[in-house]
Amino acid sequence: DTAPTGSLQIRDVSKLFGSFKAVDGINLEIQKGEFLTLLGPSGSGKTTLLMMIAGFLDISHGDIALDGSSITNIPAEKRNFGMVFQGYALFPHMSVRDNIGYALSVRKRPASEIRTRVDEMLELVQLQDFAERKPTQLSGGQQQRVALARALCFAPPVLLLDEPLGALDKKLRVEVQEQLKDIHKRVGTTFIYVTHDQEEALSMSDRIVIMRDGAIEQVGTPTVLYERPATKFAAGFLGKSN
Ligand code: ADP
Repeated sequence: DTAPTGSLQIRDVSKLFGSFKAVDGINLEIQKGEFLTLLGPSGSGKTTLLMMIAGFLDISHGDIALDGSSITNIPAEKRNFGMVFQGYALFPHMSVRDNIGYALSVRKRPASEIRTRVDEMLELVQLQDFAERKPTQLSGGQQQRVALARALCFAPPVLLLDEPLGALDKKLRVEVQEQLKDIHKRVGTTFIYVTHDQEEALSMSDRIVIMRDGAIEQVGTPTVLYERPATKFAAGFLGKSN
């Protein structure tokens, strides 16, 4: 029994709401440790796809596998993927330390193990001096890093991020982007990142998936997408007109 390494195989996945296809036949191989961004305008199916990967939404058609084994019928709580969403919802009555260690205490891990692991996470997100504070005593960017540490604390095979910078102002977004990129490099966890912001996608991702009407318009590295957009839509969406 080996630990999951975090590669994902998405095979012909669709999601129907009634007769409306929100996600339409997605095929995608995501490498272990990759920073993959789902980029597209509002309504293109990014969040729906992410929710199916998380296990919060049933798949209408197709299959999703982790390291080659299907997880389509495995419930969200057993998939154990980390999640960071826009309204990161830290527990307001708990210290930073207890927020970060929450998932481990729920899993009844020994206190000494939790302490060591939380210390590692505090170091990872550079919040060693803030362990005993409450979330309300932190800046928006610091709260964001607590949410990230909390999601990474139980060493998930995959971290799902849905517009996590949406609530931050422009200057802070750039700062947090840099930190996020750095943290990704250091932990080596597979990140799947949803955004409609092309700058964010271009600056952080190993690969970008451009989505349109529930389908993949183009997949590539930021350089390839920027220099050789395959369609007018891709070019327009990346802020280039050619
Ligand atoms: P994105 O994340 O790219 O903005 P979504 O995945 O949220 O797009 O939505 C894709 C499409 O599916 C949209 O047209 C949206 O209105 C529709 N949709 C999403 N969730 C539901 C739902 N629960 N019921 C019906 N339609 C939905």
